Amino acid sequence: MAKTVTLIHGDGIGPEVISVAKKIIDASGANIEWEEVNAGESVLDKYKTPLPDYVIESIKKNKVALKGPITTPVGGGFRSVNVALRQTLNLYANVRPIKSYEGIYCLHKNVDFIIVRENTEGLYAGIEHMVGDDAAESIKVITKKASNKIVKFAFELAKKDTRKKVTAVHKANIMKLSDGLFLRCFKNIANEYNNIISEDVIVDAMSMKLVQTPQNYDVIVAPNLYGDILSDMAAGLVGGLGLAPGANIGDEIAVFEPVHGTAPDIAGKNLANPISAILSSIMMLKHIDEYEAALKIENAISKVFKKNSKLTKDLGGNLGTKEFAQEIIKNI
Ligand code: ATP
Ligand code: MG
Repeated sequence: MAKTVTLIHGDGIGPEVISVAKKIIDASGANIEWEEVNAGESVLDKYKTPLPDYVIESIKKNKVALKGPITTPVGGGFRSVNVALRQTLNLYANVRPIKSYEGIYCLHKNVDFIIVRENTEGLYAGIEHMVGDDAAESIKVITKKASNKIVKFAFELAKKDTRKKVTAVHKANIMKLSDGLFLRCFKNIANEYNNIISEDVIVDAMSMKLVQTPQNYDVIVAPNLYGDILSDMAAGLVGGLGLAPGANIGDEIAVFEPVHGTAPDIAGKNLANPISAILSSIMMLKHIDEYEAALKIENAISKVFKKNSKLTKDLGGNLGTKEFAQEIIKNI
């Protein structure tokens, strides 16, 4: 029986990269039926919200979604739609694989690690207020429950993916209570996994080490904001945001989306690199046990990369989004 997957095109470059990702998945022979729902700017006037209930309902029903980035309207009291979706569906783990590819220029060779970012609290808890006119406070929330959950997820991922080490990132020397709690949870749970090496690194030192010796890392687990910043930096290490896939995972529901945003500067110009959306699709296919289809697309990508001449502009090539996707389809 075909698996139904919710498809959300999103805003900016979203529709361009998601529509070619869908074409490529369909070409791979995966047994999927799409349920397309709109969110973001295109529905804002009609529903007065960029995230109407039917979007949430569709994802809750199908349990799996592939989505493009969505613009958060400025003003009007809207919080980030992407963040709202993660919190509403309790997608507590944000999984971002970082990998260097043969044929793609990048700062380091043989990079292959996964960032697991806590997705529901930290400085993204959304508790912010002015104190009078001249000061503002943002509250950072760290709970034992969410910390245990994300750390456990990271170790389980390491086990499943036969990885050797999990590194926790924190700033517990300064934020002794909040990051201190996260670190304690990490150390407790690490004790349950004797076959996996565990270590913890302070976020500033980690920034240097990741740039110098990214090959030393396997699975990295971090509270929300550190995970956010490190994953954009890590994407830069291996060729940029156009290459970075992501998944938001909860206990039952998973939403796959590229790490990049709507990139308004290149939207609608057939310039966007669809690789992050395509790699997110591969993660989605593996999640629903469509391994054969996933492998076919993986192989096609590495063939195209090795040729090195057929790339999008951000990677030094001259192909448009559609032409590049066509190149991949030819190699499936
Ligand atoms: P948002 O507010 O939605 O995050 P943004 O302005 O931060 O939007 P990003 O999408 O995060 O934009 O992109 C940051 C930069 O990286 C932009 O200059 C954009 O052109 C580039 N970029 C992002 N994604 C891609 C992509 N898929 N292909 C090529 N360039 C990209
Ligand atoms: Mg951005």
